[in-house]
Formats: sequence, C-alpha cells, structure tokens
Amino acid sequence: MVHRSWLEIDLNQIKKNYQIYKTQLPTNTKVMAVVKADAYGHGDVNIAECMQQCGIDLFAVSNIEEAIRLRLNNIKGEILILGYTPISCINDLMKYDITQAILSNEYFEEILNSNLDITHLKCQYAIDTGMNRIGLDADDLLNTEQSIRFVAKNLNLTGLFTHLCVADTDNEKCIAFTKEQIKKFEIVADSVADLKLKYIHCLNSAGGLSYNNCKYNSIVRLGIILYGLKPDYSNVLPDGIHSALSWKSVISMIKDVHKGETIGYGRTFIAEQDMKVATVPTGYADGYNRLLSNKGHVIINGKNAPILGRICMDQFMIDVSNIENLKIGDEIDLLNTNYNADDMAQELNTIGYEIICDIGRRVSRLYK
Ligand SMILES: *Cc1c(COP(=O)(O)O)cnc(C)c1O
Repeated sequence: MVHRSWLEIDLNQIKKNYQIYKTQLPTNTKVMAVVKADAYGHGDVNIAECMQQCGIDLFAVSNIEEAIRLRLNNIKGEILILGYTPISCINDLMKYDITQAILSNEYFEEILNSNLDITHLKCQYAIDTGMNRIGLDADDLLNTEQSIRFVAKNLNLTGLFTHLCVADTDNEKCIAFTKEQIKKFEIVADSVADLKLKYIHCLNSAGGLSYNNCKYNSIVRLGIILYGLKPDYSNVLPDGIHSALSWKSVISMIKDVHKGETIGYGRTFIAEQDMKVATVPTGYADGYNRLLSNKGHVIINGKNAPILGRICMDQFMIDVSNIENLKIGDEIDLLNTNYNADDMAQELNTIGYEIICDIGRRVSRLYK
C-alpha cells in the first residue's frame, strides 16, 4: 500500500447496499452482481468474493479476460459475458464454464463456422428491444423466434436478456418507452416458452427499483446501485445505500503564492491576493479528470479546498488559505460519502459511472 493516491473501499457498505436493495425486490427475485470494468473500479475479485459471501451465484462481466480472472480466483456460479468475445476464444469459454451473450445471427454463424464442438457452450441470446446496441430485433418476432430456436438446437442456450435504456428517468415518455421495451421482451420470451430457458431477465439497477413487477423479474442485473451510486442524478436511492468508496491523497507541499503570480500549465490561474497553496500528488494519469481544472475541489477536514489552475499528469494545486494547521503528508479526500462520484460527475457533465471506472490502476485499493 503506497499512501500517495488510494481508494478505501468499504466491503461492509457494499454488502449493506445489496441487502437494502434486495428488500425492494419481490422475494423470488435474485441479484446478478454486475462486476464488469473491474467492478466499476472497485476491484472485481474483491467485490465478487464479497457478493459470493452474501450468497450470490450469478455474475456479469463485459469480456473474457474479466470472466477468466474471476474463475481463476475461485468465483463459482454463472458468469455471463454481456458483450463481444472474439471467436478465437470460444474454447476458453467452455474450458472455464463461462456463459457468452449471443449478439446477432452473424455472430452465432461465426461460432458455428469455427468447427469447434460447441454443444456444451453456454450462451444467452441478447434481445434488442429499443436500445439498438446488441441483440436480435424484438420487432422482427418471427425471425427472432426462429433464430433463438436454431441456437438452442446447436449449443447450450440457457437464457435470454434485454437491456433497458431509460429505466432511470421518471418522465412520461421514458416510462412509456420502458414499458414498451418490457412488453416486447415478454412477447419474445413467451414465443419460446417451451424451451424452458432458465435465465430470462431484463432489469438493471434502475429497472429493479421501478419495474420489478414485470413478468420476467426473476433476476436483476445489479450494477451501479451495488456500489452506492445513482443510475441518474435525479434518482432517490433507498435509505442506507451509499457509495462504498473514498478516494484519498496527501499534501505533498505547501507554499505562499503572492498576488499577481500564476499557477500551473498555461498560467490559467492568477492570484488576486496573497494565498496559501498546496500540491496534491494525484493527476489525470490517476484518472483525476483534467476538466476539474479551476473548477473542482477536494475536502480537507470537512472544508472545501478549490483546485487552482490545470490538473497536471501526476499533480495538482489547491487553495488552502482558509485551512489551519496543514502539513506535508496530511490526508485529504478527493471523493467521500459527502462528495461522491455522482456529485463530481455533476461538475463534469457526466455520470458517476464514468468517474469510478476512470480511476487509474496505479491508485492503490485498500479494503476494510
Ligand atoms: C452494465 C449493465 C448492467 C448494469 O447496469 P447498472 O445501471 O449499473 O445497474 C446491466 N445489464 C447490462 C446488459 C449492462 O451492460
């Protein structure tokens, strides 16, 4: 553990987030823990182990490297790859008992043409109900049904899933669109009901809260709310769900800057009076967004210290004129429960998801 720039991740809070979220679901609904992108920056193996302790045996990732890492670290149960796996890796899917999403007919044809024995390959067919990202077109019901049946004959088809694209937005148009997506998915799933597929699912974090009374509600794919953040900033999360992550750094230098001097690259900040300035050894190479230049702030003993000038690759400067008794090595918060990734995202016109996924690998992860 290097105390330069690090994350403190509270696994008990992750468990709490899961348990509280679970109370909002129908009793028979199970949670699939979405641990793609290194568990949204929280560390996929640690989060998956933590969820396994909570009794979860369904996991989702975005690619085969993530899936194999979980298996090599003793994660049991189903691991579903939600996105693309190169055909050259199909053997590894079977070797590690990983379930692949089928993205399209063309993708399935490529798997077939690989001339491998794929009878035991586990797959789930993606169904496109309006997002236009991956999956068979739910509007083309006859072809979609045929495609599902064809795949079921050739390999071990275990399920179907679709993805909701505005389940987090609480206005009439979005609600109507989401209901329509769910309806389309039901029609496709019903058309192949005789296949008795084990996993038929359509809900993400947001959908699990607002649309969990739908017919195919046996699984919620829980991502962002597991980590205590909001799908959309306007959402209100159930009481007790909080971000489990604090991002900390230290003060590496303190100095006096005189009226008229400038700070950092491009000289974009000009001191209008004498001030006390501190340097922080974290930068955009750590995933600390450069658009926070002259805009964001850090928290020192509960007080905000504004960022001065541009974020550098490995360092940035802050105004500590109003902070008493500060010395080199003191800990500061870049993110904490009062100013979390969702709050920072508001300043950057993005979403909390992007902030946490962008935190760099050279930022140490500390678990408690
Ligand atoms: C990322 C993802 C999820 C999780 O979404 P959250 O909004 O983080 O809950 C669920 N399903 C699919 C297909 C995804 O890609």
